[in-house]
Amino acid sequence: MKGSAEELDHEVAAAFTHFSFANSKGTGIVCDLQGVGTTWTDVQINSLAQEGYGQSDMGRQGMKAFFASHACNSLCRALKISGAWMV
Ligand SMILES: [Zn+2]
Repeated sequence: MKGSAEELDHEVAAAFTHFSFANSKGTGIVCDLQGVGTTWTDVQINSLAQEGYGQSDMGRQGMKAFFASHACNSLCRALKISGAWMV
């Protein structure tokens, strides 16, 4: 539901995932954020090196999958990360 607490939680999680990509200079991404509100558990890290984050690290493929469905929201724009994008 647009404007609901759930929608805001989703936007925060999506912006955080995008921020993790920008802040790591494109070398990794923290995604699959699940939980209640912004208390996240079960996060998954996808890294270019695919070393040290276990078998769930999908590497570049996992990073591209996020961007395939991500549309920047107002939080991404506030963080000025909209230009940090994987193609
Ligand atoms: Zn974004």
